[in-house]
Amino acid sequence: MSKYTIGIDLGGTTMTAGLVDESYQIVGKVTWATRLPRPAEDLEQALADLCRTVAKNAGVSFADVRYVGIGTPGSVNFTTGFVGYNTNFGYYDWNLGPDLEALLGCKVYVENDANAAAFGEYIAGGAKGCKDAVVITLGTGIGSGIILGGKILRGFNFAAGEMGHTVIVKGGRPCNCGRRGCWERYASSRALSEDAREAVCKNPESLMLKLAGGDANRMNAKIPFDAMAAGDETARAVVNNWIEYVACGIANVVNTFEPEVICIGGGVSNQGETLLAPIRAYVEEETKNITTGKMPAIRACELTNDAGVIGAAALATSI
Ligand SMILES: [Zn+2]
Repeated sequence: MSKYTIGIDLGGTTMTAGLVDESYQIVGKVTWATRLPRPAEDLEQALADLCRTVAKNAGVSFADVRYVGIGTPGSVNFTTGFVGYNTNFGYYDWNLGPDLEALLGCKVYVENDANAAAFGEYIAGGAKGCKDAVVITLGTGIGSGIILGGKILRGFNFAAGEMGHTVIVKGGRPCNCGRRGCWERYASSRALSEDAREAVCKNPESLMLKLAGGDANRMNAKIPFDAMAAGDETARAVVNNWIEYVACGIANVVNTFEPEVICIGGGVSNQGETLLAPIRAYVEEETKNITTGKMPAIRACELTNDAGVIGAAALATSI
């Protein structure tokens, strides 16, 4: 049996295909612009060309590729390969899996991009070798992927694992999912930059405003950490408050799944122990009577850009 599979990380700006070997190493990679908006059939043809190109460039016959896996934004029916709704692309009822199978003549698995990236981290990154793992990505929102016993937790209609939309403040900040007080409204990196922006409006002497070039609207999630490191007390208060919200949701993850490891990704995870050490301390304190003192590991994601490709290339094992 061939040792190669292809994983595709399909995004709104770029699409990357990786040829992946049996030890989940990427042996070839090609990235093209997604070039939206374009008709779905046109994009499918480009995806098929992308697959053939990545194999050809690596000197591998496409006939030797066992299957293709794709991580895409949108609500995905993993069983049928059908993408119900994709806001980024403007497609409704996209028959991606079957269409691409017809174009390529091989099996195609389609998964939600957050799940595919989490699965990559599980297969070859920070959660490698664990039985149960939860991957939390702190970005504009909070993405999460839950892998239990080597299988992605999908839910009966493929909407499971939305930890970002669990409520941690009843009646709290409005969320675009329709609820109030969702975890991602307090603990995403966007929430951190919003908190920082609000803080500098009240405390314009804060170093954070200077680091944002004097314009609060140019705040980002790195500035509060940089200002805190330089001794800014307003930044310290903002960061500590935000970290408590991150940790509150992670304690919920621990009490729900008790995974061996929780991996934290997103740009803010570059803060390393400055972020992780206080999270561990808070989570340990909050969960000690439930976990009887044996804490899941909490660490940063390792794969960054390649997680989506590797996870998609491994999808056949995720069922
Ligand atoms: Zn929500």
